[in-house]
Amino acid sequence: MSDFEGLRALVTGGASGIGRATAELLAERGARVAVLDLDPSGVGEPLLGLRADVTDDASVRAAVEAAVAALGGLDVLVNNAGIGAQGTVEDNDDAAWHRVFDVNVFGMVRTARAALPHLRRSPHASVVNTCSIAASAGLPQRALYSATKGAVYSLTLAMAADHVREGIRVNCVNPGTADTPWVGRLLDTAEDPAAERAALEARQPTGRLVGAAEVAGAIAYLASPLSGATTGTSLAVDGGMQGLRLRPV
Ligand code: NAD
Repeated sequence: MSDFEGLRALVTGGASGIGRATAELLAERGARVAVLDLDPSGVGEPLLGLRADVTDDASVRAAVEAAVAALGGLDVLVNNAGIGAQGTVEDNDDAAWHRVFDVNVFGMVRTARAALPHLRRSPHASVVNTCSIAASAGLPQRALYSATKGAVYSLTLAMAADHVREGIRVNCVNPGTADTPWVGRLLDTAEDPAAERAALEARQPTGRLVGAAEVAGAIAYLASPLSGATTGTSLAVDGGMQGLRLRPV
């Protein structure tokens, strides 16, 4: 029996990047996995793709109920859907601040609210939130994005405290720069994407970007009973960036 056998998991933002790698890893290890995404059209067996927008409470509730009905319950919620934002406080207007908080923070709140009644019935309930080193690194040109991830970190700790006596664990992962379609899109906006990628890699302690599968490995650990005594923690998956006190620029 694997530690994932029989687990029923929902991964938000699971059609791409870190979420996709996580959904695939959990399924490979024996979990039954549903993916909630704006565009799940590329998601196929054994994953169950569910179309929903984490900024729309009704669509989140419908997707969670559909996942629970198809999987027969819910043990694991991976709150991963998120979007990026560049710039200082002056570069983003109120509408942009509301939009990014709506996805990155309120999206996790909505999904957790819909999932908690089901997680309470699980003997191995675990919530894993995808945070970021941006939560505490003081990155330049990332005020809005960093503030959303700071909120995700605080939300993780508060939820861990609120639900510990119900047997629901809540943790987060803090990826560094991970090689996902999101980062690919960012690099594509550079004048010379290959040179920009090489410069980005050179700034990493390891000399390379973090793999989406490496973040998935950390999420899977926190999702499974292997980490049964761990709650209210953040796990850095950043190639040493935080532990070595380095600052990405
Ligand atoms: P990605 O763009 O490859 O995947 C994000 C997925 O989320 C997409 O499938 C997208 O459709 C989905 N999504 C976006 N908005 C949504 C919404 N409103 N409702 C439902 N689904 C929605 O990005 P990624 O790099 O895999 O990022 C995933 C998470 O990891 C995000 O929370 C991000 O903040 C975090 N993160 C990424 C990095 C990195 O360097 N890639 C670093 C730290 C943290």
